[in-house]
Amino acid sequence: MKKFKTVLFLFTLTFFFQNCSTEDNTLPNTNGPENILEPSNLNLENTDSYTLSDFGPNSYWADYIVDRPTTDFLITQHNASARFFGMGNVPLYFAGGPDTFNAISFSRGYVVWGEELLASAKSYGNAAIAYVAAHEMAHQVQFRDSRIPSSNHVSATELEADGFGGYFIRKTYTSNWTTAAGAYRFSQTLAGPRGSSHGSAPQRRSAYRLGYLLGENNSYSNRDFDANFFYYYNYYVLDGRLKKGLNKPKTISEEAHNYILSHLKELHKIYTGEISEKDFMNLSN
Ligand SMILES: [Zn+2]
Repeated sequence: MKKFKTVLFLFTLTFFFQNCSTEDNTLPNTNGPENILEPSNLNLENTDSYTLSDFGPNSYWADYIVDRPTTDFLITQHNASARFFGMGNVPLYFAGGPDTFNAISFSRGYVVWGEELLASAKSYGNAAIAYVAAHEMAHQVQFRDSRIPSSNHVSATELEADGFGGYFIRKTYTSNWTTAAGAYRFSQTLAGPRGSSHGSAPQRRSAYRLGYLLGENNSYSNRDFDANFFYYYNYYVLDGRLKKGLNKPKTISEEAHNYILSHLKELHKIYTGEISEKDFMNLSN
């Protein structure tokens, strides 16, 4: 009888633990997006991603990545850019572990950062983290407002996100161009998302610089920034010819318009590569 009771007890115990582990496997993961158990299960279609690789099979949802202060800094910049662009709460998730050199903005309204990407950005300085956070937030702006980007240039989405990034950096992070250019240097090491184009490195530098300069004397709504960014980009930076009728747009101050005009030749030379990456770093404010 005693033996029977022991067997029964062990059986119950085994059943309890089995049941428990089954329960654990079906618990919703609170660290990642709903119904996505691992970062490698993310559906990367219809998203923007910074690199070509998916999250690897051994990656996992994490509370923080790299270390807590670095994650806290990323969270601060992510939230600051959400506020700056009037986006409200945009959930941010972290993928830890191997094969996580990726940061992705999802059309479903959230952003995922990988640990390896954050570690690499950090090695370029905190401003690089702030810049990529703003670039990914700019894609959320584009997802939410179908009129942005207003241009049909092949790389409009990415070039504008670079422009928004430069604008954010100038308005909230630094008015020192050397710091701002240093932040941008990191993003040039990254590839574009699958099936689209981030634009060439000189194109992207000119877009970032234009966004930065637009922030010098003015603040804009997202749509006004979009309109002004493409106004100058498409009407001058691309072909370097000052078209007749490059009048001041309504939504930009006289001072800011003249400031951009005084930099148009420089912007075009960045675009063509005549101003090299090294010279780009050394431009004055
Ligand atoms: Zn992008």
